[in-house]
Amino acid sequence: MNWRITLADLDIGVEEDAAVLEVLHSRWLTMGEVTQRFEAEFTVHTGARYAFAVTNATAGLHLACVAAGLGPGDEVILPSLTFVATAAAVLYAGATPVFADIQGEHDLTISAEAIESCITPRTRAIMVMHYGGYACDLPAVLALAEKHGLQVLEDAAHAPGSSLNQKHLGTWGRVGVFSFFSNKNLATGEGGMLVTDDEKIAERIRVLRSHAMTTLTWDRHRGHAWSYDVTEIGYNYRLDEIRSAIGLVQLHKLERNNQRRRDLTGLYQQLFQAQVPEVGLPFRQHAGISSAHLLPILLPPGSDKIRFMDYMKTLGIQTSIHYPPIHTFSYYRSRFPGVSLPITEQAAEREVTLPLHPLMDEAMVESVVEGVKEGVRAIKN
Ligand SMILES: *Cc1c(COP(=O)(O)O)cnc(C)c1O
Repeated sequence: MNWRITLADLDIGVEEDAAVLEVLHSRWLTMGEVTQRFEAEFTVHTGARYAFAVTNATAGLHLACVAAGLGPGDEVILPSLTFVATAAAVLYAGATPVFADIQGEHDLTISAEAIESCITPRTRAIMVMHYGGYACDLPAVLALAEKHGLQVLEDAAHAPGSSLNQKHLGTWGRVGVFSFFSNKNLATGEGGMLVTDDEKIAERIRVLRSHAMTTLTWDRHRGHAWSYDVTEIGYNYRLDEIRSAIGLVQLHKLERNNQRRRDLTGLYQQLFQAQVPEVGLPFRQHAGISSAHLLPILLPPGSDKIRFMDYMKTLGIQTSIHYPPIHTFSYYRSRFPGVSLPITEQAAEREVTLPLHPLMDEAMVESVVEGVKEGVRAIKN
């Protein structure tokens, strides 16, 4: 398919080329100085005490659950309107995901009220997800967690560069996890980062990320150690130097590109309100600074979404869905039957994601809005 306007695109240039070649020529390809620099710069960027680069955010979420001590018998409350990895990570750890509803059409993040109604004596943690880089109601979630003695984990996959009350998302809970997948705001192909202020959690992550070995290849390379012990089952969730090098360059571009996304989001909102007011705009009024990872709209109730997306396709405009709710997937339906989340289901039925990336210009946004206007009209009859 030759899209005229793609959903996402990457700001990759000569700096990434050079950074990758420099690593290749250094002849040290994984978990070395470049990764350490990436982690150090990420702590500065987020204000977290510790940062750990990992293979991808899914591995990171798994590690977060294990490091937080979650396991069989423990319930973790999380949204269903998220990528399936949020729930899969809880299952990898042997814990049980419990799906809570979202706030509403205006805010697609998990509702604190819904979380409270899901709490049982087995609840151990809340895993929030900052949809599109827009903060969930963290003050309310943290207060609830405090009241019930629960841990808060953050799936901050969308949220590099996002903050609420000047505090970076991912640093509000006990541990936060970012994704550097190819279509995310900071892209390394595969990749992710965990952040935490908690020394105990940091130590767990450090050990578990690398086979639970007591010394690392890097330390032995530098002559600091000869052998190692293994104290439990660990994982290989390391990030390589090549991706870390790309990540460093991407991190330096992040603020500029996020600002571009926010400006384009503002233009979208202005044009939709003026030209297609029947389309719902989640997060139109939102506290905090968002990475503006996604541009979700809600079609008028009862719209045939597939016909709409097909229409956009004939215009060469790529669209997507965020997300088919996890509790509606066949595996999750059979394993966790009877889950009913009316607000999530209604929003998901209407949600379509429009193109948003830092290489777009104003004319492209105007063209997408024009396309949506035609599309909404076309599916009415
Ligand atoms: C992309 C994404 C993930 C998984 O990230 P990977 O780095 O691809 O493993 C997890 N949660 C959310 C909300 C995501 O968007």
